[in-house]
Amino acid sequence: MKIITAEFEKTAVDLKSCPAGERPEIALAGRSNVGKSSLLNKLVNRKGLARTSNTPGRTQAINFFLINGGFYLVDLPGYGYARVPVQVKAKWGPMVEKYLKERSQLKGVLQLVDVRHRPTEQDIQFYRWLLHFGLPAAVAVTKCDKLSRNQINKQIKIIKDALELKQEHPLVLFSALSGQGRDEIINIIEEMIGL
Ligand code: GDP
Repeated sequence: MKIITAEFEKTAVDLKSCPAGERPEIALAGRSNVGKSSLLNKLVNRKGLARTSNTPGRTQAINFFLINGGFYLVDLPGYGYARVPVQVKAKWGPMVEKYLKERSQLKGVLQLVDVRHRPTEQDIQFYRWLLHFGLPAAVAVTKCDKLSRNQINKQIKIIKDALELKQEHPLVLFSALSGQGRDEIINIIEEMIGL
């Protein structure tokens, strides 16, 4: 698949405000600062499509990007964002859980983890949700340009062990800087939406 067009379509704050229609969608999730906006921008080759700044207003909602007029990439709010008010944080869990559980257009989830860090409790919890809801999943390990090959291998083991990553869930090494892993992620997305 070649990504030819990508446009921001809308921000949703609950399931009701998600786009209507039957277009399939793939969600991207991860803790704040993991590199989610950078990955999204790299996938679609548009520098400014998803914001690479942590503006609470938009990052605490669900953002829909229409790709090739045919499917959505969905930017889920980053978790573990320190500076958002408590009442916004409290909404994150129920909103995202409801989305994962009930959104029938959702065909798969790409969970992002930073190559330099051991997955947090929230990362582990989120991955468990994906298993619980039986969603097709893949893990993108971000910022791989920041470590040596040796260090990366060590981190991969830590990440897989912490998440108890299932064999059927692919893990992709990604760098928004070099573009490493981009094609592989696009292939995974393609497979998930059954194109
Ligand atoms: P988000 O909060 O998950 O959307 O994260 P951003 O995409 O805004 O990235 C957070 C920070 O990490 C920014 O300073 C990015 O420039 C940086 N970053 C993101 N991806 C990469 C990457 O692949 N390599 C490097 N070196 N830096 C990255």
